Amino acid sequence: ISIYWAQHGTFIKLWSMKAGGSRLRGALAAVAFALVGVASGPAHADPKVTELRIGEHPDMTRFVIDVSSPVTYKIFMLPDPYRVVIDLPEVTWAVPPGASDSGRGLIKGYRTGLFAPGTWRIVLDVQAPVRVKKAFLLDPREGHQYRFVLDLEQVTREAFLQDLRAAPKEAPRAVPAPPVAPKVSDKRIVALDPGHGGVDPGARGRDGVYEKDITLATAKELKRQLEATGRYQVVLTRGRDVFLRLRERIAIARAAGAEVFISLHADTIADPHIRGLSVYTLSENASDQEAEALASKENKSDIIAGMDLNSESPEVANILIDLAQRETMNHSVNLAKFAVSELSHEVKLLNRSHRFAGFAVLKAPDVPSILVELGYLSHRKEDKLLQSPAYRKRLSKALVKAVDDYFSWSQTLTKS
Ligand code: ZN
Repeated sequence: ISIYWAQHGTFIKLWSMKAGGSRLRGALAAVAFALVGVASGPAHADPKVTELRIGEHPDMTRFVIDVSSPVTYKIFMLPDPYRVVIDLPEVTWAVPPGASDSGRGLIKGYRTGLFAPGTWRIVLDVQAPVRVKKAFLLDPREGHQYRFVLDLEQVTREAFLQDLRAAPKEAPRAVPAPPVAPKVSDKRIVALDPGHGGVDPGARGRDGVYEKDITLATAKELKRQLEATGRYQVVLTRGRDVFLRLRERIAIARAAGAEVFISLHADTIADPHIRGLSVYTLSENASDQEAEALASKENKSDIIAGMDLNSESPEVANILIDLAQRETMNHSVNLAKFAVSELSHEVKLLNRSHRFAGFAVLKAPDVPSILVELGYLSHRKEDKLLQSPAYRKRLSKALVKAVDDYFSWSQTLTKS
């Protein structure tokens, strides 16, 4: 049994492995409708999740959250790596940091955050193939609020895969509309892409700061400075703490008519002495092993957020670059060179500051794109600097100059 949906303490087993396909689709449609009804109801404040507990029992692992009002939920499993995904309506997450962070029993750890407007997601990483033994919502009693309880038991990989095959496929996620009006002026359009977000926190700094928050703060400052010149109109792929798929980031930039795309990230590394900013452009062949490892880490965003990549179309999954991208790549390389040159006056760079690798988010065929790794959250000083608004101002100032340099260069190309 792979999908459960419940509301207000009533546990509805939607679907069992014996159910036929058409009956299943009918049930799902009805439930989707019911969910919309609940989500758009008279709720004034989002339900608040205040506690989280993981309990280890001989035959199962119990996952519990306390929530201030009844919530609907949807549970499904993903393979390779084994994950359990719990989708709730939008909630306010008020679980104190440190609560069951390390996991227990079958649960190795979890991530949580906004998956899409209206959907809050919890992704459990599990040690082994599992099955939902029970899932239910308890009414408040004995000093507790509402409690959502999920019991997981271990099964064989064969049983897990069999459950998956029988489970309904998740509906493809619609690409959000770009949050800008179409171009009305002669301003250049710049897309800024704050890496990670929502259920995908990205790297985590020494004192717990998340990459997703650093990238968003930097993007907002850079947007402010670019727009202050009067020459640019800036679209942010996200303006809040929400998850976006890598391909959605590209789609937003393209739909907005972006002429350049700058993805912002920060990294961590085992060696605490390594620091410095670096700039990446797309290439089939990574410039070095570190760049390749970094790209494969950044490309895991969708897996971290509980997406099923098995349902991905192959042209998205592979990174082969077609001819149409070659011209764009020349532009990307120049944008990266301007960025490295301007940034070198303001901040410390990593050695070989311009590197190449197969970053999925740089794959827009027609938008020159770079990815800036702003620095290392594993370096004591750089971690502090990246959290400082003054440092982000300096970074942004250099990036504005780089964008200026780039557009004056590309204009000379079209004139000659
Ligand atoms: Zn990143």
